Amino acid sequence: MTPASEIRPLHFLQKDELEERLRALGQPAYRAGQILDWAYGRDKRVESWEGMTNLPAALRSALAESHPISLPEVVTVSGSKDTTRKLLLRLRDGELIETVLIPASPALYGEESDRRTLCVSSQVGCAYGCKFCASGLDGWKRHLTADEIVGQVLLAEKISGERINNLVFMGMGEPMANYDNWLRAVSILNAPWGVGLGARKMTVSTSGLVPRIRDLADQPLQIRLAISLHGASDEVRGQIMPVNKKHPVEELMEACSYYCERKKQMITFEYILIEGVNDAPGEARLLAERARGLRAKINLIPYNTVDGLPWKRPSEDVQEEFLSILLGRGIAATIRREKGHDIDAACGQLRRRMSAG
Ligand code: SAH
Ligand code: SF4
Repeated sequence: MTPASEIRPLHFLQKDELEERLRALGQPAYRAGQILDWAYGRDKRVESWEGMTNLPAALRSALAESHPISLPEVVTVSGSKDTTRKLLLRLRDGELIETVLIPASPALYGEESDRRTLCVSSQVGCAYGCKFCASGLDGWKRHLTADEIVGQVLLAEKISGERINNLVFMGMGEPMANYDNWLRAVSILNAPWGVGLGARKMTVSTSGLVPRIRDLADQPLQIRLAISLHGASDEVRGQIMPVNKKHPVEELMEACSYYCERKKQMITFEYILIEGVNDAPGEARLLAERARGLRAKINLIPYNTVDGLPWKRPSEDVQEEFLSILLGRGIAATIRREKGHDIDAACGQLRRRMSAG
């Protein structure tokens, strides 16, 4: 019997860990390549050890015990092809998470009309309690393991029959608070023996965990960074994002600047427009200052309503004025027109419940 502490699902393992395990079992090194090809190869993706027909049966059963294949179970798929689809997934312990597939939109992305984005969850619930966000409403339950993060991509590709070519870690949870699992998942998703998705095709969004932003800056992976800013001053940001007390705006800006220098990359500020909270012209001017220093791009997101929360989005006139202040100061800014609002799959609408749809 394998001790419980040594049971690690196959999709949690890095290649070298699998090789080491095979060595311990007296197996030749090429077995790792065979197994990973069964697990991640485009035309394979088997979901049981029995399916790996070129492995000796005794080896299959030894590995099945210590490294089970246990992808989440797809409970429902809402939406349809060509629209935003939301997959409700059940994890080993019965917890539910969602992952959202956003199809190409020539209107949004122009030339890049074959873009298929997956919005991936990183935790069950979220501990950061931003005042406007559905994911934080029910609190934090647990981290996702790396295989549960990788599994979302495998299942989305299986259900859609298409390759995901853009990943955003903007689903439920705070990826940077689950840094080790998240980074392990990223490296499996990126690896040529794994899913093989370029790091530049992945964007991680964080509410501003400064030490982790610096850690990520020191990693060689060229992953993109988006900051959930939502307020350019401590007064405004502090009102809606408790994390701002621990890491105020200045400190966050310094970490962003460190990231940009290390990676030689530009970052994005996400800024939800909430009526009467952060949509004043003065806040737009300060936001422009913050962005200019870093040459950051700004993604304005009109607030998506959340049941049980009082906030709403400003009028289109106010949105446009906010945008024009940024553009007038030479800042690269856009307003994101949301997809998936009707199936509660838009930003900030993901929560731990069996939703309708
Ligand atoms: N925890 C990370 C990753 C989740 S990303 C983060 O906060 O960055 C989810 C994105 O949706 C964040 O930018 C978040 O601020 C935004 N969001 C949350 N609630 C929203 C809402 N009701 N309408 C629009 N965007 C929202
Ligand atoms: Fe958590 Fe991000 Fe929602 Fe804040 S915005 S509660 S950090 S998921």
